[in-house]
Amino acid sequence: MINKDKFGNTIYPNNFKVLLENGNLLLKHGYTESFNKPNLFFKKTPEGSFYMDMRSTNEVPMWEDTNPLFYAFFNQEIPMWKRRRLMKQELIYFYNNKIPFRLSFEFGTDESFSELNLYIDIDIEEGIFDWADGYCRVCDRDFQNEGEFCSKECEEKFEEDLKHPCRVCNKKINWGELVYHHVSYFPVKEILVHRSCHNLIHKTDKHSHLKPSKEETDKFYKK
Ligand SMILES: [Zn+2]
Ligand SMILES: [Zn+2]
Ligand SMILES: [Zn+2]
Repeated sequence: MINKDKFGNTIYPNNFKVLLENGNLLLKHGYTESFNKPNLFFKKTPEGSFYMDMRSTNEVPMWEDTNPLFYAFFNQEIPMWKRRRLMKQELIYFYNNKIPFRLSFEFGTDESFSELNLYIDIDIEEGIFDWADGYCRVCDRDFQNEGEFCSKECEEKFEEDLKHPCRVCNKKINWGELVYHHVSYFPVKEILVHRSCHNLIHKTDKHSHLKPSKEETDKFYKK
């Protein structure tokens, strides 16, 4: 490794020390330093190559962020879901092995990544990875294709699970049937109910405990 970035700027000893530590860690985990491009580490796989770049970029010089910049290039025939899977696996590996890295803000817009739908809203600390990587979000089946679900059934189950139960009849509420009903206005207290169940609250005495008092309603509509 060299104490200069790719623009020829000198990297000061305290930062360079961190880069050397990063470099040693990468060597231990199967990465190799490029001979022609010092401070650029890579790992070849049958599907393509991963890169960990400590040479600075136009946007972020290494002294501002000493974490290596992660990116990948894949063989043309590798489908997008598989690229996402391989990158995700690599990032989880970094995380589990305490290997520092950063992602570029261009990660989702750069031409080479444009179809990958990789956005920066991943929160690796939380272990949240919403990249569609060919595993079903519901049953975990390895379906090896685009999309988040292995089947129509799993997609429907996922949507069903997202729905809220109605506070009147306890059945799940479909989109379009959902109504926020005010149990009270002072303070504001709302519950989710079916449109039809909402009518029952207001137009009958069946669910009188859910009706806001007349004083409250009057007060609210006077305001
Ligand atoms: Zn499934
Ligand atoms: Zn209901
Ligand atoms: Zn209401």
